[in-house]
Amino acid sequence: MTRPDPPPDLLVVRNLCLSFGGLKAVDDMSLTIRRGSIAGLIGPNGAGKSTLFNLIAGYYRPQSGRVVLEGEDITGLPPHVLFGKGLLRTFQIAREFSTLTVRENLMMVPAHQTGETYLGALFQPARVRAEERALRAKADEILEFLQITHVADLPAGGLSGGQKKLLELGRTMMVDPKIVFLDEVGAGVNRTLLYTIADAIRRLNVERGYTFCLVEHDMQFIADLCDDVTCMAEGRCLARGTVETILSDEAVIAAYLGRGRAAKGTGLAGTLVEATP
Ligand code: ADP
Ligand code: MG
Repeated sequence: MTRPDPPPDLLVVRNLCLSFGGLKAVDDMSLTIRRGSIAGLIGPNGAGKSTLFNLIAGYYRPQSGRVVLEGEDITGLPPHVLFGKGLLRTFQIAREFSTLTVRENLMMVPAHQTGETYLGALFQPARVRAEERALRAKADEILEFLQITHVADLPAGGLSGGQKKLLELGRTMMVDPKIVFLDEVGAGVNRTLLYTIADAIRRLNVERGYTFCLVEHDMQFIADLCDDVTCMAEGRCLARGTVETILSDEAVIAAYLGRGRAAKGTGLAGTLVEATP
């Protein structure tokens, strides 16, 4: 007997709301992410994208609405519990442990995130050594996958912006997640590393079955990777669809233009650029 296919919707967000004082940062936002997809989330600065990620990943508690992962209501669960369920987010500003080496940054992920202590294990040094060997092997495999083996023994604080983003991606790989939310993974990253990051995301998706949701301002990056794109503005969903439909959507163009100017047009070939305030 063959097992039935799992439902296609991996994550469902329904009517999420969060206000900061009088400001509705996320306002009745709904979103569905299909298993095995790479979903894009775009929108001008202040649209509520990072806040939505924080709500989904348990860093903020919604005032109303629901988050459902594989049919299970996970609304309001703390990050380390969601981490254990395979739902992770990375941050717009990389959060590496700067004095530890790149490899050590990877090796400490599982224990650090789950809040485990090694107190009990102190009395089982052989087990600890075996665990450390396994973690080290996993970290080294990830460094190779991301093509950053050459920086394994360097302090993470000395990495370039792009390498730090790769390390963030690597940290998620330590726990073989189901769904990863990447916040502005391309911000401050040079072109070459941006291609490396895009390639790693695509391979993780195809070869390892990761589902992604990514926020990115570089529309070429979004166009190259994403199946579905959602555009947020003022806390709400403005439009969703394929990259092509979204980037020619009047409301989307107006949301970006409304904040200032579009530097290089608004077609697929151009990049939507926001005005600096
Ligand atoms: P985006 O990631 O799309 O640029 P954010 O989610 O960071 O947008 O912010 C949405 C809105 O919420 C903005 O107006 C921002 O100033 C506000 N905001 C975000 N975080 C906080 C916070 N911790 N306290 C107060 N206001 C916040
Ligand atoms: Mg943001």
